[in-house]
Amino acid sequence: MAHFINLVLPIPLERNFTYSVTTQEAALLKPGMRVSVPFGKSKIYTGIVLNVHTNAPEAYEAKEIHQILDDVPIVTEIQLKHWQWIADYYMCTLGEVVRSALPNAFLLESETLVLRNTETEVNEQDLKDDEFLVYEALQHQSVLKVHEVAAIVDRKNILPILNRLLEKNVIKLKEQVFEQYKPKLVKYIRLGTSYMSDDALETLLDSLTLAPKQSQVVLALFQLQAITKKPIASVELEQASNSSKAVIKSLVQKEILEEYTIRVDRVDFDATQEVSNAKELNEYQEQALNNIRKAFDENKVTLLKGVTSSGKTEVYVKLIEACLEQKKQVLYLLPEIALTTQLISRLQEYFGEKIAIYHSKYNVQERVEVWNNVLLAKHKAQIVIGARSALFLPFSDLGLLLVDEEHESSFKQFDPAPRYHARDAAIVLGSLHASKILLGSATPSVETYHNVKMGKYGYAEITRRYGNVSMPDIELVDIKEAQRKRRMKGHFSERLLEEMNDALEAGEQIILFQNRRGYAPVLECLTCGHTPQCPNCDVSLTYHQFRKQLRCHYCGHHSALPESCFACGSADLDTKGFGTQQVEQEVIKLFPEAKVDRMDLDTTRGKHAYEKIITRFEQQELDILIGTQMLTKGLDFRNVSLVGVMNADSLLNFPDYRAHERSFQLLTQVAGRSGRTKKRGKVIIQTYNPYHQILKQVTTEEYERMFAEQVYEREQFKYPPANRIIKITFKHKNYNVLNEAADWFCSALKTNFGGNVLGPEYPPVARIRNQYLKHVLVKMDKKESAVRTKQNIKRIEKSFNAIAMYRSVRVIYNVDHI
Ligand code: ADP
Ligand code: ZN
Ligand code: ZN
Repeated sequence: MAHFINLVLPIPLERNFTYSVTTQEAALLKPGMRVSVPFGKSKIYTGIVLNVHTNAPEAYEAKEIHQILDDVPIVTEIQLKHWQWIADYYMCTLGEVVRSALPNAFLLESETLVLRNTETEVNEQDLKDDEFLVYEALQHQSVLKVHEVAAIVDRKNILPILNRLLEKNVIKLKEQVFEQYKPKLVKYIRLGTSYMSDDALETLLDSLTLAPKQSQVVLALFQLQAITKKPIASVELEQASNSSKAVIKSLVQKEILEEYTIRVDRVDFDATQEVSNAKELNEYQEQALNNIRKAFDENKVTLLKGVTSSGKTEVYVKLIEACLEQKKQVLYLLPEIALTTQLISRLQEYFGEKIAIYHSKYNVQERVEVWNNVLLAKHKAQIVIGARSALFLPFSDLGLLLVDEEHESSFKQFDPAPRYHARDAAIVLGSLHASKILLGSATPSVETYHNVKMGKYGYAEITRRYGNVSMPDIELVDIKEAQRKRRMKGHFSERLLEEMNDALEAGEQIILFQNRRGYAPVLECLTCGHTPQCPNCDVSLTYHQFRKQLRCHYCGHHSALPESCFACGSADLDTKGFGTQQVEQEVIKLFPEAKVDRMDLDTTRGKHAYEKIITRFEQQELDILIGTQMLTKGLDFRNVSLVGVMNADSLLNFPDYRAHERSFQLLTQVAGRSGRTKKRGKVIIQTYNPYHQILKQVTTEEYERMFAEQVYEREQFKYPPANRIIKITFKHKNYNVLNEAADWFCSALKTNFGGNVLGPEYPPVARIRNQYLKHVLVKMDKKESAVRTKQNIKRIEKSFNAIAMYRSVRVIYNVDHI
């Protein structure tokens, strides 16, 4: 009897593919194993087996597979089910989910680029003949495509060889690699080796009598060594001897002193390190924990709403402990892994090497290792901490699923497909495993809280900060009034400056928040009013003062700052609005003594730039940190007593139905960075609209009120949570084709769904990278079947694609979160 397999290939085509296999292969194959297959004329792909059967395809003759790549499945049945759910719900193909879910190393294909891994020594004796051929080819040519390798070795079954070479670390794949953060090295000072003996020392001190500054340093070093056995940091010596870096440097150059470094690991867990016991919970945490357990007993997804710094993490720790006792796996999802070194080291203190970190930007080897450890339910990956892609791992027995900062919009993937929301997809995953699911936030999303109110989700709360520290005192400052009375210095009100002075005098740290990077958003001609635009996108260029450039934040286009107006030639140019860069410059002028840094997309592009800034701020090397919303995400600084919001209005005026909810969350979160440990913190919010209801609700911590108003408003305008929405984006380089196509699609939708279709409309930025954009919004009552609606939309897309002129128009779906 002929045997066949159905495969999913990592490509954006709707259908699955059938290949033929031998009887022997059919007996070996199981769903979730990989096979390499020929595709089209000359392509090779890696596919995942969905099922093995005996039904020959009717429309075409099935090709034979090249080879089976696994002995056992590397993808579980639950995963395949989960991925199919993601594909259906978020309206993409299973292939697109697979592409995004599996580490690249699992999906070798003809176009994959292979390089020699220069970090390993290769013992040529260990390589089989065919492996050696590949290795040798890579000595002559630094990069090869997989299909080129196939030609060199002269066989089509090339993927098993490459898989073996990957395992042996002989080759690596070309991709963007994100290495784990290597902690910064602190410089320490000791006496040069040739001065260790007493005699040499005496001579040294004599010789230094003519250089009083230098001998001061050497004596200070002795004094410090007398009181402590610890290494002496260069900075410490500088302070103790009341000298300068230059003096120490010259002593080092003369080899009288020696500079050395000690590695302080933050991320890599040292297995010899003692694991400490979890902290004892206070009564409020205890109460919350009990309520969570009760809700878990009813098998409910549960929300923990705890004010900032209430100690939610410690409650999670207790739940994790309980789950580990049952020998089950834990998944801890976070909105952004780069910002969580703090949390990771905290959890590593308790759980040591049981923690694995998973991130789509980690290198291939690391990701494959974590994948395999999770698949085999290894001790080393019992707790997985990760950003959204971690929910694609092959858990075999997930007992607890935590989604921290569940309100964060970065849980939504916007590009490429699957455009899923990790919190929602995680809840589905958790229910497939029958695991316990906890969402945590100080400012829950309206959707989640709505589910609590409807009785669908369980609920627990902590209303006090740990250690009974008061919630920060939030003050609104009317800058319109201040400007009228000429009481502003640049963008700083008198009130903010007063508080900054106080904080600096007390040796406390300050965070300043401005939700816009760059120097000033726009450059404007005072003569004709022209503002320079991006040639590729329909937006004004942003002025970046440091590089004297105009930059586009959508496509990266940049040009030198013009000396005169492009339109009228006038040299009278001025800037409008302001960004973090301008705030930084003003701060430097206003507080010349203070140590200041900035954290935004521009300062954190380099590898580990985030971690470096966070470490410097933690270690109090900085007095003032200025930043965008990056600063709001779950950071726990001990010494911050003041948070200043430079201008709250740009948040509130964002054209999006979630703008008010987001402003409330962002402002509450950024305020929550203040006064976390001892003294009550202070927050100053500068605004032109001190009577805005959202700002009032932030100052008085009226989450309930905000929630009720938002739900009411969204019901009126048919937005979630009462309704469902799907946004369809059309994208094309030709303006007329785009318009016609969007009109065609939209009228087909209107025939089907009537008044619940809005558009087509241009978004606020209607052209990006020379592609024109148009949106259509479909709103559905919760009572309607979402499945049927999506099927109908897909059917319309099929007819749409049958029209030759429209075929090149890209159609992009965003479900729920738009
Ligand atoms: P949240 O995540 O709710 O903002 P954290 O979990 O970061 O709050 O806790 C805030 C601070 O309080 C942290 O520095 C944490 O170490 C401390 N903390 C919380 N709970 C306890 C506890 N039970 N015992 C000792 N310290 C605690
Ligand atoms: Zn002009
Ligand atoms: Zn642009």
